[in-house]
Amino acid sequence: MWQVIGQDNILSLLNYSLKTNTIAHAYLLAGPQHVGKGTLAINLAQALNCDGPELPCGQCHSCKRILEGKHADVISISLDSKMEPAAISNSLEHKTEIGIKDMLELQRMANLPPYEGKFKVFIIDDAEYLSTEAANSLLKILEEPPQRVVWLLLAAEEEHLLPTIISRCQRLELKPMPSELIEEVLINSYSVDADKAKLLSQLCHGRLGWALSALTNDHILEQRAQRIATIFPLLTASLGQSFAYAQELASQFSQNRRAMAEIIEIWLDWWRDLMLIKGGCQEAIINIDYERALEAQAMGLSLSEIKGFLANLCLLKEDISKNVNPRLALEWLLLNLPRKKLTIKS
Ligand SMILES: [Zn+2]
Repeated sequence: MWQVIGQDNILSLLNYSLKTNTIAHAYLLAGPQHVGKGTLAINLAQALNCDGPELPCGQCHSCKRILEGKHADVISISLDSKMEPAAISNSLEHKTEIGIKDMLELQRMANLPPYEGKFKVFIIDDAEYLSTEAANSLLKILEEPPQRVVWLLLAAEEEHLLPTIISRCQRLELKPMPSELIEEVLINSYSVDADKAKLLSQLCHGRLGWALSALTNDHILEQRAQRIATIFPLLTASLGQSFAYAQELASQFSQNRRAMAEIIEIWLDWWRDLMLIKGGCQEAIINIDYERALEAQAMGLSLSEIKGFLANLCLLKEDISKNVNPRLALEWLLLNLPRKKLTIKS
């Protein structure tokens, strides 16, 4: 009854722990955004509190209440959402970290016995965004874990977590799924037409959750189109225009590290596609809906120019994760962008 697809090793381990009563006090669910960490966390909270014969049954009162976010003993917190129950963070501002106030409230709740279930489960999504103070407070809780409390830390960039926190958790790494499997799931379980299933399975990089979000939220594909649209003018822009763009992106980065990472991923996909087209491997490209635009752009660039820029993009990604000044890193990248007049195929 697990809703998580393609993570069989993790599910066998959790099934064994549930059966033998050897559930850890804390788990780190590591893996890229939208890979299924949230679904697994909810499923595990259900399994821990389920009254059905097969854990998690998905049908009992507890399982249903947890799925609906109404269960008093399953508390979720993330960077984007307010803590449930709602009393703690009423601000609608975009948070840049999960602060000590939220953590102290979780600590207070953790010291109370479960109210309606068997286990209290605290799900901290975006755990890498815990402030230093909040992370230290969590560490203290994990050092002396209360009984019948399970902490689920979800992180896409676990390198930003305190190593001492990681060492207190059982680490479960969720791996991206093969694109063929995602395509199959989209067609068979979600009745998506073949062309769309193919496109989404390419774009999602093995993260089924991303593909499903893009199915229900048009904004995701629109935003991708907008981000791709910025690539074209850059190739013929003056240095001044490129630097202005670098500044704009860097200021976005200071507000939202994740959005910047998404833009870099789109650029990486795009330049990788250019390289594949240049090398005659059209069938392996990711942006299959932009094949003609990619072909036109590839004609105006040499293979070594494409490879060089791709290497620079990889360096930029690494620099950004190491907290190098994003504006400098972006200016350096755009300074090395091959500038060519585009040859349009007639
Ligand atoms: Zn159940």
